[in-house]
Amino acid sequence: MTATAAKVHRESKYEAVIGIECHVELKTHTKMFCACLNEFGGEANTKVCPVCLALPGALPVANKEAIEHMILAGLAFNAQIPAFSKFDRKNYFYPDMPKNYQISQYDMPLTQAGVVRYWLEDGTLKECRLTRIHLEEDTGKSTHAGGGDGRIAGSNYSLIDFNRAGVPLMECVSEPDLRSAEEAVAYLEALKRTFVQLGVSDVKMEEGSLRCDANVSIRPAGSTQLGTKTEIKNMNSFRSVYRAIESEIERQIRVLESGSRVVQETRGWDETQGTTHSMRSKEQAHDYRYFPDPDLVPIEVDRAIVDRLKTAIPVLPWQRFERYHLEYGLDAKQATQLIDNVPLAQYFDACVTASGNAQQSMNFVLGDLSRLANETGTPVYESAVSPAHLSELIDLIENKTVNSKIAKELLIRMWSGEGSPKTIVQKDGLAQTSDASEVEKYVDTVLSANEKAVADYKSGKTNILGFLTGQVMKASRGKANPAIVQDLLQRKLS
Ligand SMILES: [Zn+2]
Repeated sequence: MTATAAKVHRESKYEAVIGIECHVELKTHTKMFCACLNEFGGEANTKVCPVCLALPGALPVANKEAIEHMILAGLAFNAQIPAFSKFDRKNYFYPDMPKNYQISQYDMPLTQAGVVRYWLEDGTLKECRLTRIHLEEDTGKSTHAGGGDGRIAGSNYSLIDFNRAGVPLMECVSEPDLRSAEEAVAYLEALKRTFVQLGVSDVKMEEGSLRCDANVSIRPAGSTQLGTKTEIKNMNSFRSVYRAIESEIERQIRVLESGSRVVQETRGWDETQGTTHSMRSKEQAHDYRYFPDPDLVPIEVDRAIVDRLKTAIPVLPWQRFERYHLEYGLDAKQATQLIDNVPLAQYFDACVTASGNAQQSMNFVLGDLSRLANETGTPVYESAVSPAHLSELIDLIENKTVNSKIAKELLIRMWSGEGSPKTIVQKDGLAQTSDASEVEKYVDTVLSANEKAVADYKSGKTNILGFLTGQVMKASRGKANPAIVQDLLQRKLS
Protein backbone atom coordinates (compact mmCIF):
# COMPACT_ATOMS: atom_id res chain seq x y z
CA MET A 1 0.00 0.00 0.00
CA THR A 2 1.33 3.45 -0.86
CA ALA A 3 1.65 6.22 1.72
CA THR A 4 -1.29 8.05 0.15
CA ALA A 5 -3.46 4.96 0.29
CA ALA A 6 -2.50 4.51 3.94
CA LYS A 7 -3.50 8.11 4.62
CA VAL A 8 -6.94 7.53 3.13
CA HIS A 9 -7.31 4.43 5.30
CA ARG A 10 -6.17 6.35 8.34
CA GLU A 11 -8.82 8.98 7.86
CA SER A 12 -11.61 6.52 7.38
CA LYS A 13 -10.70 3.34 9.25
CA TYR A 14 -8.13 4.10 11.97
CA GLU A 15 -7.56 6.47 14.82
CA ALA A 16 -4.14 7.17 16.34
CA VAL A 17 -3.64 7.27 20.12
CA ILE A 18 -0.55 9.18 21.22
CA GLY A 19 1.07 9.97 24.55
CA ILE A 20 4.22 12.04 24.96
CA GLU A 21 7.04 11.78 27.47
CA CYS A 22 9.14 14.85 27.34
CA HIS A 23 12.34 15.72 29.18
CA VAL A 24 13.08 19.36 29.86
CA GLU A 25 16.27 20.67 31.50
CA LEU A 26 15.52 23.13 34.28
CA LYS A 27 17.13 26.55 34.41
CA THR A 28 18.88 26.69 37.79
CA HIS A 29 22.14 28.14 39.09
CA THR A 30 23.61 24.77 40.03
CA LYS A 31 23.13 21.09 39.17
CA MET A 32 20.48 18.94 40.86
CA PHE A 33 22.54 17.40 43.66
CA CYS A 34 25.86 19.31 43.77
CA ALA A 35 27.29 22.83 43.56
CA CYS A 36 28.56 22.56 39.94
CA LEU A 37 27.20 25.35 37.75
CA ASN A 38 24.31 24.41 35.49
CA GLU A 39 25.63 25.89 32.24
CA PHE A 40 25.53 24.53 28.72
CA GLY A 41 28.77 23.83 26.86
CA GLY A 42 32.35 24.41 27.95
CA GLU A 43 35.32 22.08 27.66
CA ALA A 44 34.38 18.43 28.30
CA ASN A 45 34.47 17.27 31.93
CA THR A 46 35.24 20.70 33.40
CA LYS A 47 31.88 21.21 35.17
CA VAL A 48 32.15 18.21 37.44
CA CYS A 49 32.82 17.45 41.11
CA PRO A 50 33.04 14.35 43.35
CA VAL A 51 29.22 14.26 43.70
CA CYS A 52 28.29 14.27 39.99
CA LEU A 53 31.24 11.98 39.24
CA ALA A 54 30.00 9.60 41.96
CA LEU A 55 33.35 9.36 43.74
CA PRO A 56 33.24 7.19 46.87
CA GLY A 57 31.89 8.99 49.93
CA ALA A 58 30.35 11.91 48.03
CA LEU A 59 26.74 12.62 49.05
CA PRO A 60 23.99 14.40 47.06
CA VAL A 61 21.95 17.34 48.40
CA ALA A 62 18.70 18.22 46.58
CA ASN A 63 18.49 21.61 44.84
CA LYS A 64 15.68 23.70 46.36
CA GLU A 65 15.47 25.99 43.31
CA ALA A 66 14.78 22.98 41.06
CA ILE A 67 12.07 21.69 43.39
CA GLU A 68 10.38 25.10 43.42
CA HIS A 69 10.51 25.22 39.59
CA MET A 70 8.78 21.84 39.51
CA ILE A 71 6.03 22.95 41.87
CA LEU A 72 5.52 26.13 39.82
CA ALA A 73 5.25 24.09 36.60
CA GLY A 74 2.79 21.72 38.25
CA LEU A 75 0.62 24.56 39.54
CA ALA A 76 0.53 26.18 36.08
CA PHE A 77 -1.09 22.98 34.77
CA ASN A 78 -3.41 22.69 37.74
CA ALA A 79 -1.62 19.54 38.95
CA GLN A 80 -1.78 18.14 42.46
CA ILE A 81 1.26 18.82 44.62
CA PRO A 82 1.43 15.95 47.15
CA ALA A 83 2.63 16.90 50.64
CA PHE A 84 5.20 14.12 50.53
CA SER A 85 7.54 13.06 47.75
CA LYS A 86 10.80 11.15 47.44
CA PHE A 87 13.74 10.29 45.19
CA ASP A 88 14.43 6.78 43.90
CA ARG A 89 17.35 5.09 42.20
CA LYS A 90 16.75 3.93 38.64
CA ASN A 91 19.38 1.29 38.01
CA TYR A 92 20.75 0.69 34.58
CA PHE A 93 24.11 -0.12 33.08
CA TYR A 94 25.16 2.37 30.50
CA PRO A 95 28.31 4.46 30.71
CA ASP A 96 26.55 7.87 30.54
CA MET A 97 25.98 7.87 34.32
CA PRO A 98 29.05 7.40 36.52
CA LYS A 99 26.90 6.02 39.38
CA ASN A 100 25.37 3.20 37.30
CA TYR A 101 22.03 4.56 38.39
CA GLN A 102 20.11 7.74 37.85
CA ILE A 103 18.39 9.57 40.70
CA SER A 104 14.76 9.88 39.62
CA GLN A 105 11.28 9.61 41.12
CA TYR A 106 9.26 6.42 40.86
CA ASP A 107 5.98 6.12 42.76
CA MET A 108 5.88 9.47 44.58
CA PRO A 109 6.56 12.25 42.07
CA LEU A 110 6.48 15.95 42.96
CA THR A 111 3.37 16.59 40.85
CA GLN A 112 0.49 14.39 39.79
CA ALA A 113 -2.31 14.77 37.23
CA GLY A 114 -3.01 18.18 35.70
CA VAL A 115 -4.14 19.44 32.30
CA VAL A 116 -2.25 21.09 29.43
CA ARG A 117 -4.44 23.41 27.37
CA TYR A 118 -3.17 23.94 23.83
CA TRP A 119 -4.47 25.14 20.49
CA LEU A 120 -4.18 24.11 16.85
CA GLU A 121 -3.31 26.39 13.93
CA ASP A 122 -7.00 26.88 13.11
CA GLY A 123 -7.63 28.16 16.64
CA THR A 124 -9.31 25.01 18.05
CA LEU A 125 -8.62 24.77 21.79
CA LYS A 126 -7.76 21.31 23.09
CA GLU A 127 -6.76 19.63 26.34
CA CYS A 128 -4.31 16.86 27.14
CA ARG A 129 -4.16 15.41 30.64
CA LEU A 130 -0.85 15.00 32.40
CA THR A 131 -0.11 11.81 34.31
CA ARG A 132 2.72 13.39 36.28
CA ILE A 133 5.77 15.59 36.16
CA HIS A 134 8.72 14.15 38.05
CA LEU A 135 12.21 15.39 38.80
CA GLU A 136 15.42 13.58 37.92
CA GLU A 137 19.00 14.26 36.88
CA ASP A 138 20.26 14.41 33.33
CA THR A 139 22.88 11.94 32.10
CA GLY A 140 26.29 12.66 30.60
CA LYS A 141 26.72 12.93 26.86
CA SER A 142 28.49 10.19 24.92
CA THR A 143 29.96 10.61 21.46
CA HIS A 144 30.68 7.50 19.41
CA ALA A 145 33.70 7.99 17.19
CA GLY A 146 36.39 6.18 15.32
CA GLY A 147 34.38 4.13 12.88
CA GLY A 148 36.91 1.26 12.78
CA ASP A 149 35.89 -2.38 13.21
CA GLY A 150 37.35 -2.65 16.72
CA ARG A 151 40.06 -5.19 15.79
CA ILE A 152 42.77 -2.55 15.98
CA ALA A 153 42.95 -1.01 19.44
CA GLY A 154 41.65 2.57 19.45
CA SER A 155 40.04 2.37 16.01
CA ASN A 156 36.54 2.43 17.46
CA TYR A 157 35.82 4.32 20.65
CA SER A 158 33.34 6.41 22.60
CA LEU A 159 33.95 9.70 24.34
CA ILE A 160 32.05 10.77 27.42
CA ASP A 161 31.40 14.29 28.73
CA PHE A 162 29.95 14.51 32.26
CA ASN A 163 29.27 18.28 32.17
CA ARG A 164 25.57 17.51 31.64
CA ALA A 165 25.48 14.69 34.22
CA GLY A 166 23.40 15.84 37.19
CA VAL A 167 21.66 18.77 35.48
CA PRO A 168 18.08 18.94 36.84
CA LEU A 169 15.63 17.42 34.39
CA MET A 170 11.86 17.27 34.58
CA GLU A 171 9.99 14.53 32.85
CA CYS A 172 6.44 15.39 31.80
CA VAL A 173 4.34 12.32 31.08
CA SER A 174 1.05 12.85 29.29
CA GLU A 175 -2.01 10.64 29.14
CA PRO A 176 -2.69 9.14 25.68
CA ASP A 177 -5.07 11.99 24.80
CA LEU A 178 -3.46 13.12 21.54
CA ARG A 179 -4.89 11.92 18.22
CA SER A 180 -2.53 13.20 15.53
CA ALA A 181 1.02 14.38 14.88
CA GLU A 182 -0.37 17.92 14.63
CA GLU A 183 -1.90 17.68 18.11
CA ALA A 184 1.33 16.24 19.53
CA VAL A 185 3.36 19.17 18.22
CA ALA A 186 0.79 21.75 19.35
CA TYR A 187 0.85 20.15 22.83
CA LEU A 188 4.67 20.36 22.95
CA GLU A 189 4.55 23.99 21.83
CA ALA A 190 2.17 24.73 24.71
CA LEU A 191 4.56 23.06 27.19
CA LYS A 192 7.50 25.02 25.78
CA ARG A 193 5.70 28.41 25.92
CA THR A 194 4.57 27.78 29.47
CA PHE A 195 8.00 26.70 30.77
CA VAL A 196 9.70 29.68 29.11
CA GLN A 197 7.14 32.09 30.52
CA LEU A 198 7.41 30.62 34.01
CA GLY A 199 11.20 30.99 33.77
CA VAL A 200 11.75 27.35 34.76
CA SER A 201 13.56 26.46 31.52
CA ASP A 202 15.00 28.16 28.44
CA VAL A 203 13.82 25.24 26.33
CA LYS A 204 16.66 25.65 23.86
CA MET A 205 16.00 22.80 21.44
CA GLU A 206 19.37 23.30 19.71
CA GLU A 207 21.10 22.69 23.07
CA GLY A 208 19.00 19.59 23.66
CA SER A 209 17.16 21.05 26.64
CA LEU A 210 13.84 19.53 25.43
CA ARG A 211 13.85 15.93 24.20
CA CYS A 212 10.89 13.69 23.75
CA ASP A 213 9.62 10.18 23.17
CA ALA A 214 6.18 9.34 21.80
CA ASN A 215 3.99 6.33 22.51
CA VAL A 216 1.96 5.58 19.40
CA SER A 217 -0.76 3.04 18.72
CA ILE A 218 -3.65 2.83 16.31
CA ARG A 219 -7.11 1.33 16.61
CA PRO A 220 -10.21 1.06 14.44
CA ALA A 221 -12.01 4.44 14.36
CA GLY A 222 -14.70 4.52 17.03
CA SER A 223 -13.10 1.81 19.17
CA THR A 224 -12.35 2.57 22.82
CA GLN A 225 -9.85 -0.27 23.25
CA LEU A 226 -6.18 0.60 23.02
CA GLY A 227 -4.03 -1.03 20.37
CA THR A 228 -0.45 -2.25 20.99
CA LYS A 229 1.84 0.74 21.31
CA THR A 230 5.40 1.38 20.27
CA GLU A 231 7.67 3.98 21.82
CA ILE A 232 9.63 6.22 19.46
CA LYS A 233 12.88 7.57 20.90
CA ASN A 234 15.43 10.25 20.03
CA MET A 235 13.37 13.12 18.70
CA ASN A 236 14.83 16.51 19.46
CA SER A 237 12.90 18.89 17.24
CA PHE A 238 9.17 19.50 16.76
CA ARG A 239 9.64 18.71 13.07
CA SER A 240 11.12 15.29 13.94
CA VAL A 241 8.23 14.60 16.31
CA TYR A 242 5.73 15.38 13.56
CA ARG A 243 7.48 13.31 10.91
CA ALA A 244 8.24 10.38 13.23
CA ILE A 245 4.64 10.08 14.45
CA GLU A 246 3.24 10.33 10.90
CA SER A 247 5.67 7.68 9.70
CA GLU A 248 4.94 5.35 12.62
CA ILE A 249 1.16 5.62 12.13
CA GLU A 250 1.57 4.70 8.45
CA ARG A 251 3.84 1.77 9.38
CA GLN A 252 1.38 0.38 11.93
CA ILE A 253 -1.46 0.64 9.41
CA ARG A 254 0.64 -1.32 6.89
CA VAL A 255 1.35 -3.98 9.55
CA LEU A 256 -2.34 -4.39 10.43
CA GLU A 257 -3.47 -4.29 6.79
CA SER A 258 -1.05 -7.11 5.95
CA GLY A 259 -2.67 -9.26 8.62
CA SER A 260 0.21 -9.06 11.13
CA ARG A 261 0.29 -7.67 14.65
CA VAL A 262 2.12 -4.62 15.97
CA VAL A 263 4.89 -5.66 18.39
CA GLN A 264 5.36 -3.66 21.59
CA GLU A 265 8.88 -2.29 21.31
CA THR A 266 11.12 0.75 21.38
CA ARG A 267 11.82 2.23 17.97
CA GLY A 268 14.43 4.77 16.94
CA TRP A 269 13.75 7.66 14.60
CA ASP A 270 16.04 8.03 11.61
CA GLU A 271 15.95 11.65 10.48
CA THR A 272 17.61 11.01 7.10
CA GLN A 273 15.55 7.95 6.15
CA GLY A 274 12.35 9.46 7.51
CA THR A 275 11.43 6.13 9.13
CA THR A 276 11.44 4.44 12.54
CA HIS A 277 13.35 1.21 13.17
CA SER A 278 13.23 -1.43 15.88
CA MET A 279 15.76 -0.85 18.70
CA ARG A 280 14.88 -3.27 21.48
CA SER A 281 11.88 -4.71 23.25
CA LYS A 282 10.53 -2.18 25.71
CA GLU A 283 11.91 -2.26 29.26
CA GLN A 284 9.44 -2.79 32.05
CA ALA A 285 9.64 -0.80 35.27
CA HIS A 286 10.98 -3.88 37.12
CA ASP A 287 14.01 -3.96 34.80
CA TYR A 288 15.22 -0.81 36.55
CA ARG A 289 15.13 -2.20 40.12
CA TYR A 290 13.78 1.05 41.54
CA PHE A 291 14.28 1.65 45.26
CA PRO A 292 14.26 4.79 47.47
CA ASP A 293 17.61 6.60 47.42
CA PRO A 294 19.01 6.17 50.94
CA ASP A 295 21.34 9.17 50.47
CA LEU A 296 18.48 11.67 50.17
CA VAL A 297 15.82 12.66 52.68
CA PRO A 298 12.23 12.60 51.40
CA ILE A 299 10.71 15.95 50.37
CA GLU A 300 8.01 17.40 52.57
CA VAL A 301 6.37 20.20 50.64
CA ASP A 302 5.64 23.23 52.81
CA ARG A 303 2.14 24.56 52.02
CA ALA A 304 3.39 28.11 52.57
CA ILE A 305 5.82 27.64 49.67
CA VAL A 306 3.04 26.30 47.45
CA ASP A 307 0.87 29.30 48.34
CA ARG A 308 3.71 31.72 47.61
CA LEU A 309 4.39 30.05 44.24
CA LYS A 310 0.69 30.18 43.34
CA THR A 311 0.82 33.97 43.54
CA ALA A 312 3.90 33.98 41.28
CA ILE A 313 2.08 32.41 38.31
CA PRO A 314 1.78 34.95 35.47
CA VAL A 315 -0.99 35.14 32.87
CA LEU A 316 -0.50 31.81 31.09
CA PRO A 317 -0.30 31.38 27.30
CA TRP A 318 -3.62 29.52 26.99
CA GLN A 319 -5.37 32.13 29.13
CA ARG A 320 -4.13 34.83 26.75
CA PHE A 321 -5.14 32.71 23.77
CA GLU A 322 -8.69 32.30 25.05
CA ARG A 323 -9.01 36.03 25.65
CA TYR A 324 -7.39 37.12 22.37
CA HIS A 325 -9.10 34.58 20.15
CA LEU A 326 -12.51 33.99 21.73
CA GLU A 327 -13.11 37.34 23.42
CA TYR A 328 -11.27 39.86 21.20
CA GLY A 329 -11.78 37.90 17.98
CA LEU A 330 -8.12 38.02 16.90
CA ASP A 331 -7.27 35.22 14.49
CA ALA A 332 -5.19 32.31 15.83
CA LYS A 333 -2.04 33.40 13.98
CA GLN A 334 -2.12 36.98 15.27
CA ALA A 335 -2.94 35.82 18.79
CA THR A 336 -0.03 33.32 18.74
CA GLN A 337 2.34 35.95 17.38
CA LEU A 338 1.55 38.19 20.36
CA ILE A 339 1.62 35.37 22.94
CA ASP A 340 5.06 34.18 21.78
CA ASN A 341 6.48 37.63 22.50
CA VAL A 342 5.54 38.02 26.17
CA PRO A 343 6.68 41.66 26.68
CA LEU A 344 4.79 42.64 23.51
CA ALA A 345 1.70 40.76 24.75
CA GLN A 346 1.97 42.62 28.08
CA TYR A 347 2.22 45.93 26.19
CA PHE A 348 -0.80 44.97 24.09
CA ASP A 349 -2.75 44.05 27.25
CA ALA A 350 -1.93 47.47 28.75
CA CYS A 351 -3.13 49.18 25.54
CA VAL A 352 -6.41 47.24 25.59
CA THR A 353 -6.93 48.12 29.27
CA ALA A 354 -6.25 51.81 28.58
CA SER A 355 -8.27 52.12 25.35
CA GLY A 356 -10.92 49.43 25.72
CA ASN A 357 -10.37 48.77 21.99
CA ALA A 358 -8.67 45.43 21.26
CA GLN A 359 -8.96 45.52 17.46
CA GLN A 360 -7.43 49.02 17.06
CA SER A 361 -4.73 48.19 19.64
CA MET A 362 -3.84 45.04 17.70
CA ASN A 363 -3.79 46.94 14.38
CA PHE A 364 -1.27 49.39 15.81
CA VAL A 365 0.83 46.87 17.78
CA LEU A 366 1.21 44.32 14.97
CA GLY A 367 1.01 46.97 12.20
CA ASP A 368 2.54 50.45 12.29
CA LEU A 369 4.26 50.04 15.67
CA SER A 370 5.93 46.75 14.68
CA ARG A 371 7.02 48.34 11.40
CA LEU A 372 8.61 51.28 13.30
CA ALA A 373 10.24 48.76 15.65
CA ASN A 374 11.77 46.91 12.69
CA GLU A 375 12.99 50.15 11.12
CA THR A 376 14.56 51.55 14.29
CA GLY A 377 15.62 48.38 16.14
CA THR A 378 13.76 49.46 19.29
CA PRO A 379 11.12 46.97 20.50
CA VAL A 380 7.59 48.39 20.65
CA TYR A 381 7.42 47.88 24.43
CA GLU A 382 10.63 49.89 24.95
CA SER A 383 9.60 52.68 22.60
CA ALA A 384 8.50 56.20 23.59
CA VAL A 385 4.89 55.30 22.71
CA SER A 386 3.27 54.47 26.06
CA PRO A 387 0.03 52.46 26.21
CA ALA A 388 -1.67 55.57 27.66
CA HIS A 389 -0.59 57.69 24.68
CA LEU A 390 -1.59 54.99 22.17
CA SER A 391 -4.98 54.91 23.87
CA GLU A 392 -5.26 58.72 23.39
CA LEU A 393 -4.47 58.28 19.71
CA ILE A 394 -7.16 55.59 19.37
CA ASP A 395 -9.63 57.99 21.04
CA LEU A 396 -8.69 60.78 18.62
CA ILE A 397 -9.42 58.43 15.69
CA GLU A 398 -12.61 56.99 17.15
CA ASN A 399 -14.15 60.37 17.93
CA LYS A 400 -13.03 61.60 14.50
CA THR A 401 -10.78 64.36 15.84
CA VAL A 402 -8.10 63.19 13.40
CA ASN A 403 -8.30 61.21 10.18
CA SER A 404 -6.13 58.17 9.48
CA LYS A 405 -3.52 60.15 7.56
CA ILE A 406 -2.91 62.57 10.46
CA ALA A 407 -2.98 59.59 12.87
CA LYS A 408 -0.06 57.98 11.03
CA GLU A 409 1.92 61.23 11.23
CA LEU A 410 1.10 61.56 14.93
CA LEU A 411 2.32 58.03 15.61
CA ILE A 412 5.70 58.78 14.03
CA ARG A 413 6.02 61.92 16.19
CA MET A 414 5.04 59.94 19.30
CA TRP A 415 7.66 57.31 18.41
CA SER A 416 10.32 60.04 18.22
CA GLY A 417 9.43 61.15 21.74
CA GLU A 418 6.95 64.01 21.33
CA GLY A 419 4.63 62.50 23.93
CA SER A 420 0.87 62.95 24.19
CA PRO A 421 -0.90 63.01 20.80
CA LYS A 422 -3.69 65.11 22.30
CA THR A 423 -1.16 67.79 23.21
CA ILE A 424 0.43 67.64 19.73
CA VAL A 425 -2.98 68.04 18.10
CA GLN A 426 -3.85 71.06 20.27
CA LYS A 427 -0.44 72.67 19.92
CA ASP A 428 -0.30 72.32 16.12
CA GLY A 429 -4.02 72.73 15.41
CA LEU A 430 -4.23 69.33 13.73
CA ALA A 431 -7.80 68.54 14.70
CA GLN A 432 -9.95 67.48 11.79
CA THR A 433 -12.22 70.24 10.50
CA SER A 434 -15.79 69.00 10.54
CA ASP A 435 -17.21 72.54 10.51
CA ALA A 436 -18.94 72.62 7.09
CA SER A 437 -18.54 76.37 6.58
CA GLU A 438 -14.81 76.06 7.24
CA VAL A 439 -14.46 73.10 4.84
CA GLU A 440 -16.54 74.97 2.24
CA LYS A 441 -13.89 77.69 2.03
CA TYR A 442 -11.29 75.10 0.98
CA VAL A 443 -13.74 73.54 -1.49
CA ASP A 444 -14.51 76.90 -3.11
CA THR A 445 -10.82 77.78 -3.42
CA VAL A 446 -10.06 74.43 -5.09
CA LEU A 447 -13.05 74.64 -7.49
CA SER A 448 -12.15 78.13 -8.71
CA ALA A 449 -8.51 77.12 -9.21
CA ASN A 450 -9.40 73.99 -11.24
CA GLU A 451 -11.88 75.14 -13.89
CA LYS A 452 -10.79 72.48 -16.38
CA ALA A 453 -11.33 69.66 -13.91
CA VAL A 454 -14.76 71.05 -13.08
CA ALA A 455 -15.67 71.20 -16.77
CA ASP A 456 -14.43 67.60 -17.25
CA TYR A 457 -16.53 66.43 -14.32
CA LYS A 458 -19.64 68.11 -15.72
CA SER A 459 -19.00 66.49 -19.12
CA GLY A 460 -19.27 63.08 -17.47
CA LYS A 461 -15.77 62.28 -16.17
CA THR A 462 -17.04 61.69 -12.64
CA ASN A 463 -13.87 59.92 -11.52
CA ILE A 464 -12.23 63.37 -11.41
CA LEU A 465 -13.95 63.70 -7.99
CA GLY A 466 -11.05 61.80 -6.39
CA PHE A 467 -8.55 64.32 -7.71
CA LEU A 468 -10.62 67.26 -6.44
CA THR A 469 -11.04 65.63 -3.01
CA GLY A 470 -7.27 65.22 -2.83
CA GLN A 471 -6.77 68.88 -3.69
CA VAL A 472 -9.14 70.01 -0.93
CA MET A 473 -7.43 67.72 1.60
CA LYS A 474 -4.10 69.16 0.56
CA ALA A 475 -5.39 72.74 0.87
CA SER A 476 -6.61 71.98 4.40
CA ARG A 477 -3.24 70.41 5.25
CA GLY A 478 -4.97 67.06 5.77
CA LYS A 479 -7.35 68.38 8.42
CA ALA A 480 -10.65 68.50 6.53
CA ASN A 481 -13.09 65.72 7.29
CA PRO A 482 -12.97 63.68 4.03
CA ALA A 483 -16.66 62.72 4.26
CA ILE A 484 -17.73 66.38 4.44
CA VAL A 485 -15.37 67.29 1.58
CA GLN A 486 -16.92 64.66 -0.70
CA ASP A 487 -20.41 65.68 0.26
CA LEU A 488 -19.80 69.39 -0.46
CA LEU A 489 -18.02 68.70 -3.78
CA GLN A 490 -20.86 66.55 -5.06
CA ARG A 491 -23.46 69.13 -4.11
CA LYS A 492 -21.54 72.01 -5.68
CA LEU A 493 -20.78 70.13 -8.90
CA SER A 494 -24.25 68.78 -9.56
ZN1 LIG B 1 29.03 18.32 40.51
